[in-house]
Order: sequence, then structure tokens, then C-alpha cells
Amino acid sequence: GEAVLRAATHPKQPPTRMALQHFDATYSAQLGALWPSIRVALLSERKYGALLNHFAHNLDVEELQARGCKDFISNGEAFMFPASADHRSEFRPEEDSSSVSTVNHGGGSQQPSSLRLSPNIRCLVFPRGDVTRFRPARPDKFGLLSYYLLDAASILPCLALDVQESHTVLDLCAAPGGKALALLQTQSVSECPALSRSSSNSIQSGFLCANDSSVSRTSRLKRVLHSYVPKALLTDDKLRITSFDGTIWGEIERNSFDRVSSGHPIIFILLLWRHTNLIPASLQVLVDVPCNTDRHSLMENDNNIFSRSRIGERRSLPKLQAELLLAGILAACPGGDVLYSTCTLSANQNQAVVQQAVQLAEEQHGIQLQVISLCPLTQMFSNTFHFAPNLHLGEMVIPHLAANFGPIYLCKLRRLT
Ligand code: SAM
Repeated sequence: GEAVLRAATHPKQPPTRMALQHFDATYSAQLGALWPSIRVALLSERKYGALLNHFAHNLDVEELQARGCKDFISNGEAFMFPASADHRSEFRPEEDSSSVSTVNHGGGSQQPSSLRLSPNIRCLVFPRGDVTRFRPARPDKFGLLSYYLLDAASILPCLALDVQESHTVLDLCAAPGGKALALLQTQSVSECPALSRSSSNSIQSGFLCANDSSVSRTSRLKRVLHSYVPKALLTDDKLRITSFDGTIWGEIERNSFDRVSSGHPIIFILLLWRHTNLIPASLQVLVDVPCNTDRHSLMENDNNIFSRSRIGERRSLPKLQAELLLAGILAACPGGDVLYSTCTLSANQNQAVVQQAVQLAEEQHGIQLQVISLCPLTQMFSNTFHFAPNLHLGEMVIPHLAANFGPIYLCKLRRLT
């Protein structure tokens, strides 16, 4: 409210300035003593990671490794399991069955999960404190690019989702496609659809549905996937790219799906999941919502959510986020996992949204959810990222000058009913 008041009295303030004022007011209250150092990091150049494209004949990897780059994922595993540093073993922490609880009213303990990280997902980063930039990726002889540059912390939601090669995944807000690409890295070319297609039901092999409501951003997503993934994995029985308002899953649940074209593939798949016995062995849903995008809001005046013309949109973000998360929860079958993520520090757009969606799922749909603890993940990658201490719900990577990744918030929910 304070920031809006200031906007009224100082109409010429650029959006980046408005964002900083807003963050100073809200984050200093929310993060206390942590805020000043996070603020410095947020205002400094961000650090990227290179998500390696295992489909490309990667010429750049050795050179990057010679310059000190390391795959933070296998590094994390080596840190946790020094004896088995060379291969990715299943990571099952001690599970405390007494800690099982649902998240009524956002409280309760979190259930530990196990991670079976695909050896195909690799992300190179320069060491702590090294701010060397990556140069743009080069195409291999088939035209596939060797790596995708992104905030290395944005791989964490994909790792937390624990996608296996046979899983069916819905990426509800997928554009421009960094996370979709990371999810697709779990597929291997040898399992190409022509070989793995079963006679009756091809959606039981690994399948990704990548959706984004923005048509222009969906085009960008398509371009990205075509620059990185071989055509054999971009076939209809492996991948669908759609451009729906992700909140329509709520409509479907209320059985009003006639209004949203029940003939469309994504709706068709959903109905198949819900109303036939073709339920995939496992359905994982990634809900990577639009948010304050803290870094962008502090650095770029173009397309800035803090511009005066977007005040209404910004204020309604938590509502949209909760609707999208609820839609993701509804799309996941019982037993399926839902991963909520943002790139903001805002507790209103993180923990509060998860609490609200969990409550709505229970009250309006009778769905029970369990929060899955991401402690194994934070322990494994504590060498690479700084995590916010003592978050009561989910985990958050906080920017730090020596490891300037994030912010990334993530929370994993399992549908029990
Ligand atoms: N997951 C993407 C990645 O890793 O590259 C980034 C997603 S971005 C944080 C959020 C996306 O949500 C935007 O591309 C935006 O177009 C999309 N979006 C906004 N409202 C939506 C809605 N109602 N349904 C589906 N997508 C929506």
C-alpha cells in the first residue's frame, strides 16, 4: 500500500524504483536481518547455469570443465555420498513415519521424500565467487544447441519433482521452456517413441504436456524445444504443447468442461486420466507460476509488473497463483505430486498461496494433501545454493553475492485422495 501511495505522489518513478521501494518495505519485514545482503545480491549481476543438452553432441563441455565449471547436481551427490560419487544412486533418507501429516491450515510437519536423480540432467556452474559469464551455446552438426542458460536454482523444482523416464508430466506454465527442457532431459533417445510405443496406450511411456496461456510465449517454447530436442522425442505421443489458461482445470473439475472445448487434446488427455482406467502410472504436475519476478522487476523497466499500468495485475497475482496451483492439484491423480514454484521472495506469493490452495482443495474438493519435505534436496545442494532458514512451508533459494542464484521458491505436495 505504501508503495502505491508513493506512486501517486511521484508519478515519474520508474517501475524498477517502485519495485525496490516495495521490496524494501515488505522484504525487510519478512526477512529481517537477511534482507540487506539479499538486496545487494539482487541488485548485482545474476549468475547463470548451463543446463547441458544431452541430446546434442556436446563440444563445449570439456572446454567449460577445463575453465573450472562443474555439474552442481553430481557434485551435490558426491557431497552426500562420497563413496558412490561416480553414479547417481537412489537417495532415501531416514523416513520418520510419525512425521506423516497433512497440511491442514498450512501447519504440520513435512514428509521427507527420496530422490532418484536422472543422470541425464546436468547443469554446469562456475565455482562460488566466480562470476565468469557463459558464452552463447553453439549448435552441433544436427543443429541442436549444446546448453541452455538459466538460473541454476530453477532446475531445483524439476529435480524435486523427481521425474522418472516413465512418468507423465504436466507443465502448466511452461514458457519459455527452461524447466520443460530439464524435464525432457530425463528421456533418452534410445527410448524413442517408435521403440517404446505399447500397442494400446502410448501415454503410459514418458509424456510431457507443456502448456502456457500466452500464445506468443508458447511459440517461443516451441522454438526452444525444437532447438534442443531431437524430432524423435517431439512426436505427439511424447509431447503436447498447448496454449490454455491453466486455471481451466478448475472448470473441468466442476464438470463444466463443455465450455472449454472438450475436443482439445489436453482436455481429452485429462478426461482420459480421470474417467477411464488409462490413468498413467504416475502423474507429476509442475506449477511454475507468473510472479513478481524480483530480479526482472529490479533491473528492467520494460514489461515490468511494477509499472503503474499493471498495478491491478500485480495485486491479483496471489489469486491467479492459487487458482493455478489448485488447477494443478486437481489435474494430479491421487498419489500424484504437484510442485509449486516461483522466482520471488514474496511470502504472499509463496507460502500463503500454498496454504490457500491446500485449504481450497480440501474445503471445495475434499482433496487431502501432504507436504513433502525437500530437506534431502537442500542438504544435497547446500554447497551451491543458499537456502532460506526455517521456512515453515517449502524451501527458498536466496540470492547471495558468492552464489548469486535465485530467488526460487519451491513447495512439493502429494495428493493423498
Ligand atoms: N516454467 C517456465 C520456464 O521454466 O521457462 C517459466 C514460466 S513463467 C515463470 C510463468 C508463465 O506463466 C508465463 O510464461 C506466463 O505466460 C504463464 N501464465 C500466466 N498466466 C497463465 C495461466 N492462466 N495459465 C497458464 N499459463 C499462464
